[in-house]
Amino acid sequence: MIVVMEKGATQEQIDHMVQRVEGLGLRAHVIVGTERTVIAAIGEKRQETRSSLESGPGVAEVVPILAPYKVASREVKKEPTQIVAGSLKVGAGAIGIIAGPCSVENEEQILKTAHAVKAAGATALRGGAFKPRTSPYSFQGLKEAGLKLLAKAREQTGLAIVTEVMSTEDVPLVAEYADVLQIGARNMQNYRLLEAVGGTRRAVLLKRGPSATMEELLLAAEYILNEGNSQVMLCERGIRTFENHTRFTLPLASVPYLHHKTHLPVVVDPSHGTGHTYLVPDMAAASVAAGADGLILEVHPDPERAMSDGYQSLNFSQFEDTMRRCRKVAAAVDKTM
Ligand code: PEP
Ligand code: MN
Repeated sequence: MIVVMEKGATQEQIDHMVQRVEGLGLRAHVIVGTERTVIAAIGEKRQETRSSLESGPGVAEVVPILAPYKVASREVKKEPTQIVAGSLKVGAGAIGIIAGPCSVENEEQILKTAHAVKAAGATALRGGAFKPRTSPYSFQGLKEAGLKLLAKAREQTGLAIVTEVMSTEDVPLVAEYADVLQIGARNMQNYRLLEAVGGTRRAVLLKRGPSATMEELLLAAEYILNEGNSQVMLCERGIRTFENHTRFTLPLASVPYLHHKTHLPVVVDPSHGTGHTYLVPDMAAASVAAGADGLILEVHPDPERAMSDGYQSLNFSQFEDTMRRCRKVAAAVDKTM
């Protein structure tokens, strides 16, 4: 249920209603909007609860939340959420650009890339230190040494760091270095991991599982939000279909669909979404045109020699060109980038 407070309800009235909600054994999430404050009351709903809350001081109305995801739903918050994590700003008119290699490989590679993407206008640096690889024989990432190199890159460039955390036991370590915790596609439904990142105060980039529906993605986000972490960005990174001309199929209708259903910002990953460097610039521009709040792009100083995902990585000049094109599209859709 949503307890919609009257315009101009006092802080005292809001606090009082939070206590009432909690007193009924429900969880209260206060969402402060520009127009009015609402309290999402999450838990088992009973008709008596609704009428008893309706009589509270400063309450305009109590309405059921119809979507299966609650805190993520636009029903509880009409205005888009903006996420700010260091230099990265995503949502509500701001387009964040997260760029960098698939994997952190060595100091020279990550520092060179950080400076190059920053100069071209990226607002965050990506780089995997813990890598989920299909084969156990593939490069698994530099782990903590990789996190240290990312921190050095942040020191030199001021760019926020986006990096993947693969398991619950690594959350404290990765959260020490990262500004944004990335949940990889393979882990979208690892519910204990979602709860663990929900317990941190780091922003989270939640990637869509390759076979997950939009509803499953939103319910995964709900696990994080429900732990009290409101800084969640959703990421469309392509799904598995019968089609094989691309590595995955990148459905850009997800972007306006998600904007319709949730206040959370939506980032698109055209690198994994296509799996081919030559398709990335066009699909990056198309993502911005579709309303994306951010892009995550793989960029490598020498894609041919990359230890992972070189075939879908942009080199520095391709990244600069992509940025130039996306900026024009961003201006056309009234966004800043
Ligand atoms: C990545 O970002 O390098 C990655 C492994 O992405 P995904 O989880 O979407 O496959
Ligand atoms: Mn990758």
